Amino acid sequence: MSAASPAPTHLREDPFALAQAQLRRVGETFDVDPNLIQVLSQCKKGVEVSVPVQMDDGSVFPFQGYRVVHNTTRGPAKGGIRYHPAVTQDEVKALAMWMTWKCALMGLPFGGAKGGVICDPKLLSLGEKERLTRRYTTEIINEIGPEKDIPAPDVGTDAQVMAWIFDTYSMNVGYSVLGVVTGKPLAVGGSVGRDGATARGSLYCIRTALQKQGSRLQDRRVAIQGFGNVGSNLASLLCDEGARVTTVSDSRGGIHNAYGLDVPAVIAYRAEHGVLQGFPGADEITNEELIEIDCDVLAPCALEQMITAENAPRVRAKMICEGANGPTTPAADEILEDRGILVLPDVLANAGGVVVSYFEWVQGLQEYFWKEYEVHAKLNDIVVRAFEETWSTRERHATSMRMAAYGIAVQRVAQATTIRGLYP
Ligand code: NAD
Repeated sequence: MSAASPAPTHLREDPFALAQAQLRRVGETFDVDPNLIQVLSQCKKGVEVSVPVQMDDGSVFPFQGYRVVHNTTRGPAKGGIRYHPAVTQDEVKALAMWMTWKCALMGLPFGGAKGGVICDPKLLSLGEKERLTRRYTTEIINEIGPEKDIPAPDVGTDAQVMAWIFDTYSMNVGYSVLGVVTGKPLAVGGSVGRDGATARGSLYCIRTALQKQGSRLQDRRVAIQGFGNVGSNLASLLCDEGARVTTVSDSRGGIHNAYGLDVPAVIAYRAEHGVLQGFPGADEITNEELIEIDCDVLAPCALEQMITAENAPRVRAKMICEGANGPTTPAADEILEDRGILVLPDVLANAGGVVVSYFEWVQGLQEYFWKEYEVHAKLNDIVVRAFEETWSTRERHATSMRMAAYGIAVQRVAQATTIRGLYP
């Protein structure tokens, strides 16, 4: 297997078709003009690019990349870049649409976008990854920019990749453009608090939801799927707050200890061994078993379509916090809703990342940087306000948190579209 081999997909259903169907349901529930729903069900623009890269062995491989903008009615497009062997254009389109709703729900002046390159970043050397990133950036250079479309990290990309994008774009225009990308390292205009921001937003959502139920985080048992940026930071934050993180996993499987894992030790173990398996004092479990584990909060923080109609009847968690984008299929959603399991949807529960990305963009444009406590406090304000709006909309419409969140978001974008009018 090479870094260029496409992988078997984790997607059982076409994610863009699901996102469009979700939008139609929101339109009906919230009585949004069907003409607007039809407009919003399409992506504004997308490019497919070939990214030829010289590999370390001297060969040249043309990787395939995408950048899709779903909507820019409320401001420039915003969305991550994914490096994964199973990336597809329809996945990128769905993720771009969800970014539009997420930014609107958070009240950020952004539309939605997403990008991806079909590759396995784990099998690329640092040099190969840098060459791929710089060539991909060059191929989409007319599409991105601080007033147009601002990328950020997603699965398989990190602060170093963002630094290469920032540098490549800046070299092409002839000066440093801090606002072209977020999730940058602190040394080149990143924001304090960006790294753990998505997980911190999830933490605020879980905490607020438990408060609504008259409960608190102390001793709640949490299972987390995915141990990357979102999953590992969420495990740390929850552990600091006194929750019991019993189960964590990555793509190769997971570990479980009913009394709670020593999260800092797990992070250190994974950094040293590259895997979770073999962590002392824990049982090994599969990703399938993790979804069905007995816990208070299940946080899928890996990829889409992990909770399906097949396994949803066996989910034992009382609450699901979607750290990942699209981890629950619509069919699973209905089953969970019928079973009274509270689902904190992705557009709310993982929006902390884009909120602090917005802060980074603002700081970059102003060349004036904030302190960590300011970032955390402003993040808390925005996420908790969005949570409260979603909660009260859910009660008013007797619907799910997902429908309520989408309802608020879609109505905001629809209203902006109507006010701006149809050009020309
Ligand atoms: P990452 O690349 O840092 O980590 C992904 C993790 O998922 C890794 O531990 C990987 O091993 C694991 N994984 C991959 N395939 C898996 C599988 N089939 N089963 C179980 N685990 C698997 O990515 P990330 O940035 O943490 O993103 C994770 C999810 O959160 C994605 O859905 C992403 O779109 C979403 N998200 C990320 C951010 C962000 O700021 N990074 C913001 C919002 C949403």
